[in-house]
Amino acid sequence: MSLLTVGSVAFDAIETPFGKTDKIIGGAGTYIAFSSSYFVPTQNIVSVVGNDFPQEMLDKLKGRGVNLEGLQIKQGEKTFFWSGRYHNDMNSRDTLVTELNVLEHFDPIIPASYQGADYVLLGNLSPQVQKTVIERLDTRPKLVAMDTMNFWMDIAMDALKETLKLVDVLIINDEEARQLSGEYSLVKAAKKIREMGPTYLIIKKGEHGALLFHGEQVFFAPALPLEEVFDPTGAGDTFAGGFMGYIASTDDYSFENMKRAIITGSAMASFCVEEFGTNKLENLTKSEIEERIQSFVRLTDFDMVQTVG
Ligand code: AMP
Repeated sequence: MSLLTVGSVAFDAIETPFGKTDKIIGGAGTYIAFSSSYFVPTQNIVSVVGNDFPQEMLDKLKGRGVNLEGLQIKQGEKTFFWSGRYHNDMNSRDTLVTELNVLEHFDPIIPASYQGADYVLLGNLSPQVQKTVIERLDTRPKLVAMDTMNFWMDIAMDALKETLKLVDVLIINDEEARQLSGEYSLVKAAKKIREMGPTYLIIKKGEHGALLFHGEQVFFAPALPLEEVFDPTGAGDTFAGGFMGYIASTDDYSFENMKRAIITGSAMASFCVEEFGTNKLENLTKSEIEERIQSFVRLTDFDMVQTVG
């Protein structure tokens, strides 16, 4: 089934308690593309970079089946740049720099060959751009999922709420769910957010796993207890890419299958954090991924032999 993905393709500079990088390749769209590429043979990406972006990385994406026809390269302009510093707990971070550059006036063009997409994942980008992408699709996809972040809530909350009306699945973290809803309790937050549009809501809680809300149903997926988290950047996008890649490859967006998709996304995110940037995600094997998914299955597998009374 065809998958269309949208998101920033960027330069990042990251500081963690373990080290610091110069400009490396990042971006929500990049993490999504690598992660979902293990599930779908091909995907269509919509994004924009400047002509300072290395061809070598574009070739790597192509090599993983990513169609770059919808990725604009702006001559004489600079690629989006983001820099962040993680706190000692590695769960929270401060954004140090956001230079929108090519993203500032990004007009997403949907090539004709991208039309008819069954599944769409709107990665982290301005909510206006996310909305424009949906509006430029000739047919309504089976499922539209969307990610966003506090940055857009701070500067474009109204636009974000307009975009939310058009999506089926929202994927955000616990802090963002609280900011969006104004509620501290995640159950109350989930209720309010689903009244804004998305019928499915996934709330990520970093090393504490993720929750899926739909109607009266709730599902909880753990995060794998890892000995070392090297760099959490992109974990959320990698999760979303694995989630949507799995849904698209199985062509099943029932609540039951979303549970499997969440475990798949969590497994992919657990690889992402093991190295700086997209390094780890670029060359995974099928058996590594399968083994990691089984680790998740074992993590919560237990037999209840006796109940009270
Ligand atoms: P995550 O760690 O999953 O929240 O995603 C981190 C990635 O998001 C980094 O690679 C950044 O390049 C990208 N990013 C950070 N801020 C923004 C923003 N305002 N818009 C789009 N992408 C962003």
